[in-house]
Amino acid sequence: MRGYGAIVLAGGKGRRMGTDIPKQFLPLGRETVLWHSLHAFEESVAEEVVLVVPPDETEFCREQYGACRGFRKVTRVVEGGKERYDSVYAGLKALKALAPRGFRYVAIHDGARPLVTPELIARSFEEAEQYGACVAAVPVKDSLKFGDREGFAGAVIPRDQVWAIQTPQTFEYALCFSAYRRMLEGGESCEGITDDAMVVERYTGHRVKLCRGDDRNLKITTPEDLTAAEAYLRLQNR
Ligand code: C5P
Repeated sequence: MRGYGAIVLAGGKGRRMGTDIPKQFLPLGRETVLWHSLHAFEESVAEEVVLVVPPDETEFCREQYGACRGFRKVTRVVEGGKERYDSVYAGLKALKALAPRGFRYVAIHDGARPLVTPELIARSFEEAEQYGACVAAVPVKDSLKFGDREGFAGAVIPRDQVWAIQTPQTFEYALCFSAYRRMLEGGESCEGITDDAMVVERYTGHRVKLCRGDDRNLKITTPEDLTAAEAYLRLQNR
């Protein structure tokens, strides 16, 4: 059995960016958003990477993000699905097919988080080994309040108990696969599912450890995020 497998998700359409091109393929620094995400995995302890892309983009992505472009670890490029969780399941199945007896751990990462680092990837595998399941997370900095329907502030949410969740989200492969299979093939509800930790918690009951993330590990969602990511890259001369 192999050790560390990874899934990098780039199967979304990214409507909130207001561009025709999905956000993961937009230029960032000298490359694209997705290039930076994959580069971090290439330099990390991950052994192999499955890249999940939009339908009809597999050929293009094999050329752009395969071995001939220096991504030796990207050994499979597969089509994603309608929702993020469909894309994750496609990635999990492709990863299973890569090694005869599969991988012991899997890190799942949003390709739209280009500032992930090899150090954060290593930390998440270490904590997955220790706890079985972990997600990168950072403490929130703003005050938090509920808002009512009229737009007035309501009760305060204690900030010291709230974390902003990022990726990588890293799990024992068997735990993660069984949770996804139960949800997507066992006729269970996908309602409200926005990340992998929720699937594992809901369908296995396994507790998920919060692993120290990084404030710079932002998800490109709006044009302002791209400006911030450009600034961070310039600081690092990338
Ligand atoms: O849309 P959102 O920002 O939540 O997407 C997070 C990540 O999941 C992105 O990298 C996006 O490309 C990916 N995704 C996917 N398949 C989908 C939807 C999103 O791979 N159907």
